[in-house]
Amino acid sequence: MLWRIVSFLACQLAGGLLGLMAAMPMHEQTRELEAAMLGVFVGGLLWFVVDLSRGGRLLSWLRRGDFSNSVMRTGLWGEVSDRVRRLVRIREHAALESKERLQDFLAAFQASPNGVVLLDSQGAIEWFNQMAALHFGLDAQRDLLQHIGNLVRDPSFVSHFSSHDYVNEIIMPGRENTPARPVKLSVYLHPYGQGRLLLLSRDITAVEQAEAMGRDFIANVSHEIRTPLTVLAGFVETLQSCPLDETERERYLALMAQQAIRMQTLVSDLLTLSRLEGSPAPSHSEWVAVVVLLRQLEQDARALSAVLNPAPDRRHQMSFEALAGIEIAGSPSELFSAMGNLVGNAIRYTPAGGDIQVRALTLPDGQLEFSVSDSGPGIAPEHLSRLTERFYRVDHSRSRDTGGTGLGLAIVKHVSQRHGAVLKIESTPGKGSVFTITFPASRVRETELETVA
Ligand code: ADP
Repeated sequence: MLWRIVSFLACQLAGGLLGLMAAMPMHEQTRELEAAMLGVFVGGLLWFVVDLSRGGRLLSWLRRGDFSNSVMRTGLWGEVSDRVRRLVRIREHAALESKERLQDFLAAFQASPNGVVLLDSQGAIEWFNQMAALHFGLDAQRDLLQHIGNLVRDPSFVSHFSSHDYVNEIIMPGRENTPARPVKLSVYLHPYGQGRLLLLSRDITAVEQAEAMGRDFIANVSHEIRTPLTVLAGFVETLQSCPLDETERERYLALMAQQAIRMQTLVSDLLTLSRLEGSPAPSHSEWVAVVVLLRQLEQDARALSAVLNPAPDRRHQMSFEALAGIEIAGSPSELFSAMGNLVGNAIRYTPAGGDIQVRALTLPDGQLEFSVSDSGPGIAPEHLSRLTERFYRVDHSRSRDTGGTGLGLAIVKHVSQRHGAVLKIESTPGKGSVFTITFPASRVRETELETVA
Protein backbone atom coordinates (compact mmCIF):
# COMPACT_ATOMS: atom_id res chain seq x y z
CA MET A 1 0.00 0.00 0.00
CA LEU A 2 2.89 2.32 0.92
CA TRP A 3 4.44 1.67 -2.51
CA ARG A 4 1.13 2.65 -4.08
CA ILE A 5 0.96 6.02 -2.24
CA VAL A 6 4.64 6.71 -2.86
CA SER A 7 4.39 5.89 -6.60
CA PHE A 8 1.21 8.01 -6.91
CA LEU A 9 2.91 10.98 -5.21
CA ALA A 10 6.08 10.43 -7.26
CA CYS A 11 4.09 10.53 -10.51
CA GLN A 12 2.38 13.73 -9.44
CA LEU A 13 5.69 15.25 -8.37
CA ALA A 14 7.35 14.29 -11.62
CA GLY A 15 4.39 15.75 -13.57
CA GLY A 16 4.54 18.96 -11.50
CA LEU A 17 8.29 19.30 -12.01
CA LEU A 18 8.00 18.70 -15.73
CA GLY A 19 5.18 21.30 -15.95
CA LEU A 20 7.33 23.76 -13.97
CA MET A 21 10.35 23.18 -16.17
CA ALA A 22 8.24 23.61 -19.30
CA ALA A 23 6.86 26.99 -18.04
CA MET A 24 10.15 28.39 -16.71
CA PRO A 25 11.30 30.06 -19.96
CA MET A 26 8.15 32.27 -19.80
CA HIS A 27 9.37 33.87 -16.51
CA GLU A 28 5.82 34.29 -15.30
CA GLN A 29 5.07 33.06 -11.81
CA THR A 30 1.33 32.48 -12.40
CA ARG A 31 2.02 30.48 -15.58
CA GLU A 32 4.64 28.43 -13.79
CA LEU A 33 2.17 27.60 -10.97
CA GLU A 34 -0.56 26.70 -13.47
CA ALA A 35 1.87 24.49 -15.46
CA ALA A 36 3.06 22.80 -12.28
CA MET A 37 -0.58 22.13 -11.21
CA LEU A 38 -1.37 20.76 -14.68
CA GLY A 39 1.74 18.57 -14.48
CA VAL A 40 0.59 17.25 -11.07
CA PHE A 41 -2.83 16.49 -12.53
CA VAL A 42 -1.44 14.79 -15.67
CA GLY A 43 1.06 12.81 -13.52
CA GLY A 44 -1.83 11.62 -11.29
CA LEU A 45 -3.93 10.77 -14.35
CA LEU A 46 -1.07 8.80 -15.92
CA TRP A 47 -0.64 6.88 -12.65
CA PHE A 48 -4.39 6.01 -12.73
CA VAL A 49 -4.22 4.89 -16.36
CA VAL A 50 -1.23 2.64 -15.66
CA ASP A 51 -2.87 1.33 -12.46
CA LEU A 52 -6.15 0.69 -14.29
CA SER A 53 -4.41 -1.24 -17.06
CA ARG A 54 -2.61 -3.37 -14.42
CA GLY A 55 -6.02 -4.00 -12.76
CA GLY A 56 -7.45 -4.90 -16.20
CA ARG A 57 -4.61 -7.37 -16.82
CA LEU A 58 -5.28 -8.94 -13.42
CA LEU A 59 -9.01 -9.20 -14.19
CA SER A 60 -8.48 -10.91 -17.54
CA TRP A 61 -5.93 -13.26 -15.86
CA LEU A 62 -8.61 -14.13 -13.27
CA ARG A 63 -11.18 -14.65 -16.07
CA ARG A 64 -8.83 -16.97 -17.97
CA GLY A 65 -8.56 -19.13 -14.86
CA ASP A 66 -5.02 -20.34 -15.64
CA PHE A 67 -3.20 -19.70 -12.40
CA SER A 68 -0.05 -21.62 -13.22
CA ASN A 69 1.94 -18.39 -13.91
CA SER A 70 1.86 -15.12 -12.03
CA VAL A 71 0.54 -12.22 -14.16
CA MET A 72 2.60 -9.56 -12.30
CA ARG A 73 4.87 -9.55 -9.33
CA THR A 74 4.97 -5.99 -7.96
CA GLY A 75 2.55 -3.61 -6.36
CA LEU A 76 -0.90 -4.12 -4.94
CA TRP A 77 -2.17 -5.98 -8.02
CA GLY A 78 0.91 -8.21 -7.91
CA GLU A 79 0.16 -9.07 -4.29
CA VAL A 80 -3.52 -9.68 -5.14
CA SER A 81 -2.50 -12.04 -7.98
CA ASP A 82 -0.06 -13.81 -5.65
CA ARG A 83 -2.66 -14.31 -2.94
CA VAL A 84 -5.24 -15.50 -5.47
CA ARG A 85 -2.69 -18.04 -6.78
CA ARG A 86 -1.90 -19.23 -3.25
CA LEU A 87 -5.60 -19.55 -2.36
CA VAL A 88 -6.36 -21.40 -5.58
CA ARG A 89 -3.43 -23.76 -4.93
CA ILE A 90 -4.70 -24.51 -1.40
CA ARG A 91 -8.23 -25.12 -2.72
CA GLU A 92 -6.93 -27.33 -5.53
CA HIS A 93 -4.90 -29.34 -3.05
CA ALA A 94 -7.91 -29.78 -0.73
CA ALA A 95 -10.12 -30.74 -3.71
CA LEU A 96 -7.51 -33.26 -4.87
CA GLU A 97 -7.30 -34.75 -1.38
CA SER A 98 -11.07 -35.13 -1.07
CA LYS A 99 -11.21 -36.55 -4.59
CA GLU A 100 -8.56 -39.12 -3.66
CA ARG A 101 -10.43 -39.96 -0.45
CA LEU A 102 -13.65 -40.38 -2.46
CA GLN A 103 -11.80 -42.62 -4.93
CA ASP A 104 -10.50 -44.68 -1.97
CA PHE A 105 -14.04 -45.07 -0.63
CA LEU A 106 -15.37 -46.03 -4.04
CA ALA A 107 -12.49 -48.47 -4.54
CA ALA A 108 -13.35 -50.04 -1.17
CA PHE A 109 -17.01 -50.33 -2.21
CA GLN A 110 -15.86 -51.71 -5.55
CA ALA A 111 -13.80 -54.39 -3.82
CA SER A 112 -16.73 -55.37 -1.62
CA PRO A 113 -18.02 -58.91 -2.21
CA ASN A 114 -21.51 -57.42 -1.85
CA GLY A 115 -23.45 -55.28 -4.31
CA VAL A 116 -23.58 -51.56 -3.40
CA VAL A 117 -25.89 -49.04 -5.09
CA LEU A 118 -26.16 -45.37 -4.06
CA LEU A 119 -29.58 -43.88 -4.74
CA ASP A 120 -30.51 -40.20 -4.58
CA SER A 121 -33.62 -38.92 -2.81
CA GLN A 122 -35.70 -39.63 -5.95
CA GLY A 123 -34.52 -43.24 -6.18
CA ALA A 124 -32.23 -42.57 -9.16
CA ILE A 125 -28.94 -44.48 -9.32
CA GLU A 126 -25.93 -42.29 -8.53
CA TRP A 127 -23.28 -45.00 -8.37
CA PHE A 128 -23.00 -48.78 -8.17
CA ASN A 129 -20.21 -51.32 -7.94
CA GLN A 130 -19.48 -54.24 -10.26
CA MET A 131 -21.06 -56.77 -7.94
CA ALA A 132 -24.34 -54.81 -7.97
CA ALA A 133 -24.08 -54.68 -11.79
CA LEU A 134 -23.82 -58.47 -11.76
CA HIS A 135 -26.62 -58.97 -9.22
CA PHE A 136 -29.13 -56.64 -10.93
CA GLY A 137 -27.85 -56.64 -14.52
CA LEU A 138 -26.95 -52.91 -14.40
CA ASP A 139 -24.86 -51.17 -17.04
CA ALA A 140 -22.56 -48.30 -15.98
CA GLN A 141 -23.01 -46.44 -19.31
CA ARG A 142 -26.73 -46.88 -19.63
CA ASP A 143 -28.23 -47.00 -16.17
CA LEU A 144 -26.71 -44.13 -14.17
CA LEU A 145 -29.39 -41.62 -13.10
CA GLN A 146 -32.13 -44.10 -14.05
CA HIS A 147 -34.78 -44.86 -11.42
CA ILE A 148 -33.97 -48.14 -9.65
CA GLY A 149 -37.64 -49.19 -9.86
CA ASN A 150 -37.41 -49.16 -13.67
CA LEU A 151 -34.41 -51.47 -13.68
CA VAL A 152 -35.07 -53.92 -10.85
CA ARG A 153 -38.53 -55.18 -11.69
CA ASP A 154 -38.85 -58.08 -9.26
CA PRO A 155 -42.30 -57.66 -7.56
CA SER A 156 -40.93 -58.26 -4.04
CA PHE A 157 -38.30 -55.55 -4.58
CA VAL A 158 -40.78 -53.10 -6.12
CA SER A 159 -43.23 -53.45 -3.21
CA HIS A 160 -40.41 -53.29 -0.62
CA PHE A 161 -38.96 -50.18 -2.26
CA SER A 162 -42.29 -48.38 -2.34
CA SER A 163 -43.22 -49.42 1.23
CA HIS A 164 -40.56 -47.07 2.71
CA ASP A 165 -40.22 -49.53 5.56
CA TYR A 166 -36.65 -50.70 5.24
CA VAL A 167 -36.13 -52.52 8.54
CA ASN A 168 -35.99 -56.05 7.11
CA GLU A 169 -34.09 -57.56 4.23
CA ILE A 170 -35.86 -59.15 1.29
CA ILE A 171 -34.86 -62.31 -0.56
CA MET A 172 -35.22 -62.08 -4.31
CA PRO A 173 -33.92 -63.91 -7.39
CA GLY A 174 -30.75 -62.52 -8.95
CA ARG A 175 -30.55 -61.34 -12.55
CA GLU A 176 -28.91 -64.58 -13.71
CA ASN A 177 -31.44 -66.79 -11.95
CA THR A 178 -32.61 -69.76 -14.03
CA PRO A 179 -34.49 -72.89 -12.96
CA ALA A 180 -31.33 -74.92 -13.60
CA ARG A 181 -29.03 -72.47 -11.78
CA PRO A 182 -30.98 -70.60 -9.13
CA VAL A 183 -29.43 -67.37 -7.83
CA LYS A 184 -30.81 -65.90 -4.59
CA LEU A 185 -30.03 -62.41 -3.33
CA SER A 186 -30.51 -60.89 0.09
CA VAL A 187 -31.26 -57.18 -0.42
CA TYR A 188 -31.14 -54.42 2.21
CA LEU A 189 -32.14 -50.77 1.79
CA HIS A 190 -30.58 -48.35 4.29
CA PRO A 191 -31.72 -44.71 4.37
CA TYR A 192 -28.90 -42.16 4.83
CA GLY A 193 -28.23 -38.45 4.33
CA GLN A 194 -31.19 -36.41 3.12
CA GLY A 195 -33.61 -38.98 1.77
CA ARG A 196 -30.85 -40.98 0.06
CA LEU A 197 -30.75 -44.79 0.07
CA LEU A 198 -27.91 -47.26 0.23
CA LEU A 199 -28.87 -50.54 -1.45
CA LEU A 200 -26.84 -53.56 -0.39
CA SER A 201 -27.15 -56.96 -2.05
CA ARG A 202 -25.54 -60.27 -1.07
CA ASP A 203 -25.51 -63.52 -3.03
CA ILE A 204 -26.91 -66.11 -0.63
CA THR A 205 -27.29 -68.92 -3.18
CA ALA A 206 -24.52 -70.99 -1.58
CA VAL A 207 -25.89 -70.40 1.94
CA GLU A 208 -29.40 -71.38 0.85
CA GLN A 209 -28.06 -74.43 -0.95
CA ALA A 210 -26.05 -75.44 2.13
CA GLU A 211 -29.17 -75.06 4.29
CA ALA A 212 -31.22 -77.09 1.83
CA MET A 213 -28.48 -79.72 1.70
CA GLY A 214 -28.42 -79.83 5.51
CA ARG A 215 -32.20 -80.34 5.58
CA ASP A 216 -32.02 -83.03 2.87
CA PHE A 217 -29.16 -84.70 4.70
CA ILE A 218 -31.10 -84.97 7.96
CA ALA A 219 -34.17 -86.25 6.07
CA ASN A 220 -31.99 -88.83 4.25
CA VAL A 221 -30.23 -90.01 7.41
CA SER A 222 -33.58 -90.34 9.21
CA HIS A 223 -34.98 -92.30 6.30
CA GLU A 224 -31.93 -94.58 6.08
CA ILE A 225 -32.08 -95.35 9.80
CA ARG A 226 -35.84 -95.66 9.97
CA THR A 227 -36.00 -98.46 7.40
CA PRO A 228 -33.78 -101.01 9.24
CA LEU A 229 -35.24 -99.85 12.57
CA THR A 230 -38.79 -100.58 11.36
CA VAL A 231 -37.69 -103.99 10.13
CA LEU A 232 -35.93 -104.68 13.45
CA ALA A 233 -38.97 -103.57 15.47
CA GLY A 234 -41.18 -105.86 13.35
CA PHE A 235 -38.94 -108.86 14.03
CA VAL A 236 -38.78 -108.08 17.74
CA GLU A 237 -42.59 -107.94 17.87
CA THR A 238 -42.84 -111.25 15.99
CA LEU A 239 -40.34 -112.88 18.34
CA GLN A 240 -42.26 -111.55 21.34
CA SER A 241 -45.75 -112.50 20.20
CA CYS A 242 -45.44 -115.62 18.03
CA PRO A 243 -44.30 -119.03 19.18
CA LEU A 244 -41.49 -119.92 16.71
CA ASP A 245 -39.54 -123.07 16.28
CA GLU A 246 -35.73 -123.00 16.58
CA THR A 247 -35.07 -122.76 12.82
CA GLU A 248 -37.44 -119.85 12.38
CA ARG A 249 -35.97 -118.09 15.42
CA GLU A 250 -32.48 -118.52 13.97
CA ARG A 251 -33.60 -117.11 10.63
CA TYR A 252 -35.28 -114.12 12.24
CA LEU A 253 -32.26 -113.42 14.43
CA ALA A 254 -29.96 -113.58 11.37
CA LEU A 255 -32.18 -111.06 9.56
CA MET A 256 -32.17 -108.82 12.64
CA ALA A 257 -28.39 -109.01 12.81
CA GLN A 258 -28.25 -108.01 9.12
CA GLN A 259 -30.35 -104.89 9.81
CA ALA A 260 -28.25 -104.02 12.86
CA ILE A 261 -25.06 -104.31 10.76
CA ARG A 262 -26.65 -102.09 8.15
CA MET A 263 -27.29 -99.40 10.77
CA GLN A 264 -23.78 -99.81 12.15
CA THR A 265 -22.27 -99.38 8.68
CA LEU A 266 -24.37 -96.30 8.09
CA VAL A 267 -23.37 -94.70 11.40
CA SER A 268 -19.74 -95.57 10.80
CA ASP A 269 -19.82 -94.01 7.28
CA LEU A 270 -21.52 -90.91 8.71
CA LEU A 271 -18.83 -90.61 11.37
CA THR A 272 -16.12 -91.04 8.73
CA LEU A 273 -17.66 -88.26 6.64
CA SER A 274 -17.99 -85.89 9.58
CA ARG A 275 -14.37 -86.60 10.60
CA LEU A 276 -13.23 -85.88 7.04
CA GLU A 277 -15.15 -82.62 6.94
CA GLY A 278 -14.00 -81.40 10.33
CA SER A 279 -10.32 -82.27 10.43
CA PRO A 280 -7.32 -80.55 8.81
CA ALA A 281 -5.90 -81.95 5.55
CA PRO A 282 -3.56 -84.95 6.01
CA SER A 283 0.10 -84.05 6.39
CA HIS A 284 2.78 -84.56 3.76
CA SER A 285 5.08 -86.20 6.29
CA GLU A 286 3.39 -89.60 6.76
CA TRP A 287 4.19 -92.01 3.92
CA VAL A 288 2.43 -95.25 3.13
CA ALA A 289 3.67 -97.88 0.67
CA VAL A 290 1.22 -98.48 -2.17
CA VAL A 291 1.93 -102.23 -2.20
CA VAL A 292 0.98 -102.48 1.47
CA LEU A 293 -2.32 -100.74 0.75
CA LEU A 294 -2.98 -103.02 -2.20
CA ARG A 295 -2.17 -106.13 -0.20
CA GLN A 296 -4.75 -105.19 2.44
CA LEU A 297 -7.27 -104.27 -0.24
CA GLU A 298 -6.77 -107.63 -1.96
CA GLN A 299 -7.35 -109.58 1.27
CA ASP A 300 -10.59 -107.72 2.02
CA ALA A 301 -11.74 -107.89 -1.61
CA ARG A 302 -11.33 -111.66 -1.84
CA ALA A 303 -13.16 -112.07 1.48
CA LEU A 304 -16.06 -109.88 0.31
CA SER A 305 -16.31 -111.65 -3.03
CA ALA A 306 -16.42 -114.99 -1.14
CA VAL A 307 -19.21 -113.72 1.13
CA LEU A 308 -21.29 -112.50 -1.82
CA ASN A 309 -20.56 -115.58 -3.95
CA PRO A 310 -20.08 -118.59 -1.68
CA ALA A 311 -19.49 -120.99 -4.62
CA PRO A 312 -15.73 -120.70 -5.46
CA ASP A 313 -16.32 -120.96 -9.23
CA ARG A 314 -18.68 -117.95 -9.13
CA ARG A 315 -16.21 -115.56 -7.49
CA HIS A 316 -14.81 -112.53 -9.31
CA GLN A 317 -11.63 -112.68 -11.39
CA MET A 318 -9.48 -110.11 -9.63
CA SER A 319 -6.02 -108.72 -10.37
CA PHE A 320 -4.00 -106.30 -8.22
CA GLU A 321 -1.01 -104.52 -9.72
CA ALA A 322 1.29 -101.98 -8.10
CA LEU A 323 4.86 -100.74 -8.38
CA ALA A 324 6.93 -101.60 -5.33
CA GLY A 325 8.83 -98.76 -3.74
CA ILE A 326 6.14 -96.19 -4.46
CA GLU A 327 4.78 -94.31 -1.46
CA ILE A 328 1.94 -91.84 -1.02
CA ALA A 329 1.96 -89.06 1.57
CA GLY A 330 -1.26 -88.89 3.53
CA SER A 331 -3.46 -90.62 6.03
CA PRO A 332 -3.20 -94.42 5.62
CA SER A 333 -6.66 -95.02 7.13
CA GLU A 334 -8.32 -92.45 4.83
CA LEU A 335 -6.52 -93.79 1.76
CA PHE A 336 -7.46 -97.34 2.64
CA SER A 337 -11.07 -96.30 3.25
CA ALA A 338 -11.33 -94.50 -0.14
CA MET A 339 -9.63 -97.26 -2.15
CA GLY A 340 -11.59 -99.90 -0.21
CA ASN A 341 -14.87 -98.21 -1.12
CA LEU A 342 -14.01 -98.31 -4.83
CA VAL A 343 -12.92 -101.95 -4.72
CA GLY A 344 -15.96 -102.84 -2.56
CA ASN A 345 -18.31 -101.15 -5.06
CA ALA A 346 -16.71 -103.00 -7.98
CA ILE A 347 -17.29 -106.33 -6.19
CA ARG A 348 -20.82 -105.48 -5.03
CA TYR A 349 -22.04 -104.19 -8.40
CA THR A 350 -20.24 -106.65 -10.70
CA PRO A 351 -22.17 -109.86 -11.18
CA ALA A 352 -20.63 -113.18 -10.08
CA GLY A 353 -17.64 -114.27 -12.14
CA GLY A 354 -16.99 -110.72 -13.48
CA ASP A 355 -13.54 -109.15 -13.93
CA ILE A 356 -12.07 -106.59 -11.54
CA GLN A 357 -8.66 -104.96 -12.01
CA VAL A 358 -7.01 -102.79 -9.38
CA ARG A 359 -3.89 -100.83 -10.40
CA ALA A 360 -1.62 -98.27 -8.77
CA LEU A 361 0.84 -96.97 -11.34
CA THR A 362 2.94 -93.83 -11.65
CA LEU A 363 2.64 -91.54 -14.67
CA PRO A 364 5.64 -90.03 -16.49
CA ASP A 365 5.03 -86.68 -14.74
CA GLY A 366 5.28 -88.28 -11.29
CA GLN A 367 1.56 -88.46 -10.51
CA LEU A 368 0.12 -91.71 -9.20
CA GLU A 369 -2.99 -93.26 -10.69
CA PHE A 370 -5.00 -95.63 -8.56
CA SER A 371 -7.73 -97.23 -10.66
CA VAL A 372 -10.42 -99.86 -10.21
CA SER A 373 -12.00 -101.26 -13.40
CA ASP A 374 -14.86 -103.70 -13.44
CA SER A 375 -16.94 -105.54 -16.02
CA GLY A 376 -20.16 -104.72 -14.16
CA PRO A 377 -23.40 -103.18 -15.40
CA GLY A 378 -21.86 -99.71 -15.90
CA ILE A 379 -23.55 -96.41 -15.13
CA ALA A 380 -25.62 -94.27 -17.51
CA PRO A 381 -23.96 -90.90 -18.33
CA GLU A 382 -26.71 -88.81 -16.68
CA HIS A 383 -25.84 -90.25 -13.25
CA LEU A 384 -22.07 -89.78 -13.42
CA SER A 385 -21.92 -86.18 -12.18
CA ARG A 386 -24.15 -86.95 -9.18
CA LEU A 387 -22.57 -90.20 -7.98
CA THR A 388 -20.46 -88.51 -5.31
CA GLU A 389 -23.49 -86.79 -3.71
CA ARG A 390 -24.39 -88.24 -0.34
CA PHE A 391 -27.07 -90.94 -0.59
CA TYR A 392 -27.21 -90.75 -4.37
CA ARG A 393 -27.80 -94.20 -5.80
CA VAL A 394 -28.40 -95.38 -9.34
CA ASP A 395 -29.89 -98.69 -8.28
CA HIS A 396 -31.45 -98.42 -4.81
CA SER A 397 -32.33 -102.04 -4.30
CA ARG A 398 -28.92 -103.34 -5.47
CA SER A 399 -27.18 -100.87 -3.18
CA ARG A 400 -29.23 -101.93 -0.15
CA ASP A 401 -29.11 -105.65 -0.95
CA THR A 402 -25.32 -105.52 -0.92
CA GLY A 403 -25.10 -103.42 2.25
CA GLY A 404 -24.50 -100.05 0.55
CA THR A 405 -25.08 -96.83 2.46
CA GLY A 406 -24.99 -94.41 -0.48
CA LEU A 407 -22.07 -92.61 1.21
CA GLY A 408 -19.14 -94.56 -0.23
CA LEU A 409 -18.32 -92.33 -3.19
CA ALA A 410 -18.90 -89.19 -1.11
CA ILE A 411 -16.16 -90.48 1.21
CA VAL A 412 -13.91 -91.27 -1.77
CA LYS A 413 -14.36 -87.75 -3.14
CA HIS A 414 -13.61 -86.14 0.23
CA VAL A 415 -10.51 -88.22 0.82
CA SER A 416 -9.29 -87.47 -2.73
CA GLN A 417 -9.78 -83.73 -2.28
CA ARG A 418 -8.03 -83.76 1.08
CA HIS A 419 -5.01 -85.39 -0.58
CA GLY A 420 -5.04 -82.96 -3.50
CA ALA A 421 -6.13 -85.85 -5.73
CA VAL A 422 -8.82 -85.97 -8.42
CA LEU A 423 -11.50 -88.63 -8.75
CA LYS A 424 -12.51 -89.53 -12.31
CA ILE A 425 -15.41 -91.84 -13.17
CA GLU A 426 -15.75 -93.39 -16.63
CA SER A 427 -18.42 -95.90 -17.43
CA THR A 428 -20.13 -97.57 -20.36
CA PRO A 429 -23.55 -99.06 -19.60
CA GLY A 430 -23.46 -102.80 -20.15
CA LYS A 431 -19.66 -102.92 -20.26
CA GLY A 432 -18.31 -101.74 -16.94
CA SER A 433 -16.80 -98.81 -15.06
CA VAL A 434 -13.40 -97.35 -14.25
CA PHE A 435 -12.91 -95.26 -11.11
CA THR A 436 -9.54 -93.47 -11.01
CA ILE A 437 -7.95 -91.39 -8.25
CA THR A 438 -4.96 -89.37 -9.51
CA PHE A 439 -2.60 -88.23 -6.74
CA PRO A 440 -0.36 -85.20 -7.37
CA ALA A 441 3.38 -85.79 -7.82
CA SER A 442 4.01 -83.79 -4.63
CA ARG A 443 2.41 -86.60 -2.62
CA VAL A 444 4.20 -89.43 -4.41
CA ARG A 445 7.76 -90.66 -3.90
CA GLU A 446 9.82 -93.56 -5.15
CA THR A 447 12.04 -95.45 -2.74
CA GLU A 448 13.19 -98.41 -4.89
CA LEU A 449 12.35 -99.71 -8.37
CA GLU A 450 10.90 -103.21 -8.57
CA THR A 451 7.59 -104.32 -10.09
CA VAL A 452 5.30 -106.74 -8.32
CA ALA A 453 1.98 -108.03 -9.54
P1 ADP B 1 -23.51 -97.33 -2.27
O1 ADP B 1 -23.25 -97.51 -0.84
O2 ADP B 1 -24.93 -97.29 -2.64
O3 ADP B 1 -22.69 -98.23 -3.10
P2 ADP B 1 -21.77 -95.30 -3.29
O4 ADP B 1 -21.68 -93.85 -2.95
O5 ADP B 1 -20.57 -96.12 -3.07
O6 ADP B 1 -23.03 -95.83 -2.55
O7 ADP B 1 -22.14 -95.39 -4.81
C1 ADP B 1 -23.20 -94.59 -5.31
C2 ADP B 1 -23.92 -95.31 -6.42
O8 ADP B 1 -23.05 -95.40 -7.55
C3 ADP B 1 -24.28 -96.72 -6.08
O9 ADP B 1 -25.51 -96.76 -5.43
C4 ADP B 1 -24.34 -97.37 -7.43
O10 ADP B 1 -25.61 -97.18 -8.00
C5 ADP B 1 -23.31 -96.61 -8.26
N1 ADP B 1 -22.03 -97.34 -8.36
C6 ADP B 1 -20.94 -97.14 -7.60
N2 ADP B 1 -19.94 -97.96 -8.00
C7 ADP B 1 -20.40 -98.66 -9.04
C8 ADP B 1 -19.85 -99.65 -9.92
N3 ADP B 1 -18.61 -100.07 -9.78
N4 ADP B 1 -20.64 -100.13 -10.91
C9 ADP B 1 -21.90 -99.69 -11.07
N5 ADP B 1 -22.48 -98.76 -10.28
C10 ADP B 1 -21.76 -98.26 -9.29
